[in-house]
Amino acid sequence: MGKSDQYIIINDDLMNDSEASRLRLLASRLVKERHNLENVLMEHHRMLRGSLLERPKFCGKPGCKCTKGQPHPPGLCLSRLVNGTVRQVFIRGADHERSRKEALSYKEYRQALRRWRMIDKELNRIWEDLEKAQEEAYPFE
Ligand SMILES: [Zn+2]
Repeated sequence: MGKSDQYIIINDDLMNDSEASRLRLLASRLVKERHNLENVLMEHHRMLRGSLLERPKFCGKPGCKCTKGQPHPPGLCLSRLVNGTVRQVFIRGADHERSRKEALSYKEYRQALRRWRMIDKELNRIWEDLEKAQEEAYPFE
């Protein structure tokens, strides 16, 4: 083995070391973020699945202001998939506040779960790369 070959090998080891610390830094960030997401997922919340849509309301009574382009306060509608088809239900006025809160909790939960799954995949890849970056050749130098 010539001198130039040795130089290349040493250089390669240094690159693996810096690659390993880059991966560890990335992993520790993701582990922290995943932990925060787990706290969100562990929160105890009632959730309303689906999305809430505001619908302008027209009663249609002759002479009502809504027939002259001034709609009543918007109605709230819950839209969600039931057995593969979109279903919409009107939300009673008395339930507006609660359903907004619960629909928001649902949205936040789904977002956290989506991100958690992405991080999980990412970490899986990082652990594999870290293994490669730290793998030693044998015999030892
Ligand atoms: Zn009206």
